[in-house]
Amino acid sequence: MSTSTTTPAGVLESLPGQLLIGGQWRDGRGGAFDVIDPATGEPLRAVADATAEDALAALDAAAAAQRGWAATPARQRAEVLRRAFALMHDRAEALALLATLEMGKPLAESRAEVAYAAEFFRWFSEEAPRVDGGFRPTPEGTHHILVMRQPVGPSLLITPWNFPLAMPTRKIAPALAAGCTAVLKPAEQTPLSALAIAQILTEAGLPPGVLNVLTTADPEPVGAALLTDPRLRKVSFTGSTPVGSHLLRGAADRVLRVSLELGGNAPFIVFDDADLSAAVDGAMAAKMRNIGEACTAANRFFVAESIAEPFTRMLAERMATLAIGPGSDPRSQVGPLIDAAGRDKVAGLVDDARAGGATAVLDGGPLPGPGFFFAPTVLTGVAPDARLLREEIFGPVAPVLTFRDEDQAVAAANDTEFGLLAYVYTADLRRSLRVVEQLEAGMVGLNQGVVSNAAAPFGGIKLSGLGREGGREGIGEFLETKYVGIAR
Ligand code: NAP
Repeated sequence: MSTSTTTPAGVLESLPGQLLIGGQWRDGRGGAFDVIDPATGEPLRAVADATAEDALAALDAAAAAQRGWAATPARQRAEVLRRAFALMHDRAEALALLATLEMGKPLAESRAEVAYAAEFFRWFSEEAPRVDGGFRPTPEGTHHILVMRQPVGPSLLITPWNFPLAMPTRKIAPALAAGCTAVLKPAEQTPLSALAIAQILTEAGLPPGVLNVLTTADPEPVGAALLTDPRLRKVSFTGSTPVGSHLLRGAADRVLRVSLELGGNAPFIVFDDADLSAAVDGAMAAKMRNIGEACTAANRFFVAESIAEPFTRMLAERMATLAIGPGSDPRSQVGPLIDAAGRDKVAGLVDDARAGGATAVLDGGPLPGPGFFFAPTVLTGVAPDARLLREEIFGPVAPVLTFRDEDQAVAAANDTEFGLLAYVYTADLRRSLRVVEQLEAGMVGLNQGVVSNAAAPFGGIKLSGLGREGGREGIGEFLETKYVGIAR
């Protein structure tokens, strides 16, 4: 893919569309499958369909490359990542268009995702040479303790469709920086961005076999073949909680290292002392980023009774003005949802809430095709047992509920099995710290509606996952600790 190929046809044709195994682009033994444009429902292009046999060939390549990559000086590994960072910026327009075509988000958001995704390459290029260990005497003075940190080994990286560039780079960058080789399995709906990233890493000088990519329409046999192979040492997964716990069970037999970034159900709490217009800005970002298809999306708004009416009115007014259309049209602010099943799921959640007594302040809903569009919707009066409050919405729907006091707000926010992220808007510092401490979440946005940053430890608690990605913590997920006792 070159900088000049920024037409849809140019971007699509410049991609290999095959599996990357041991540095070779190869056809899949399962044939090929079509990637669908969610704005039209039409195929964009076909990519190779990997089988379990292809998966084992990819692991052969990763295992063969492991020793050499681990022995490659950290500075050299870092320079590959740093070149990949630069190449992503050189090709930002083409990558953004590709992500928009296969995932649907507006171009402006895809451009932001290119920058976010590339940042993982830069951040972990800086972390690679900083991996250290320790040296200390035992308290008894009998021997010395040397602590080494070494790459875990060949890793399976499985990513979802909603951030088709950033989810792969958030895993590939720390794995490679730590000295691990990897097999990447991107989502069936969005394999093209992952192939473009693999192409970039190859051009950046990554040796054959260090990163292998399996696109497939049938993930279960591919995943199972890898999880049961003794050469695999780690699985890092981002996706839904049911698939994450299925993989965790699969990883148990071989006691694999596991990182899981799973679903969310983020509360967005607005206290009566908050800057109302900043809270609405934050709500727009937290709800509408990525068309609401983000694990970090605000799923439930809890607003102090005294300001609930103006907050809801302002939010509904802002959501009503957004232009809906294909992400590749620069005027669009709300693209299509990923597929018919995704759109129908959101519609079902809204129907269920309305049947339970909810009122639409902004009456959006599914739009006729082509494509899988859903107009922004704001609901009030949602019953506590509505599915909308229990499940990830993954669409542009905002349920606004009210609270009387701080304790009620915190209890309502924590009333979920998920614990990825919470948002809090208040001008009171003491209340901020009190509430943040009580929230059951791996991350909190305090007076801000977007928290994602390559330098921050991203991750959840409860059903939202295990481990952290990004930050100093991210590389640790791909390192083992070895203690050496040294006689005096
Ligand atoms: P998903 O259905 O769980 O799929 C995620 C990935 O797992 C895809 O690549 C999928 O392949 C693969 N997969 C599915 N079943 C598998 C199996 N049996 N063995 C091996 N791999 C398997 O999730 P999604 O619908 O793509 O993504 C949306 C979910 O991701 C949401 O719940 C969202 O909250 C979560 N998410 C979390 C974070 C976070 O950081 N916490 C970030 C982004 C998204 P196929 O595509 O072929 O099915």
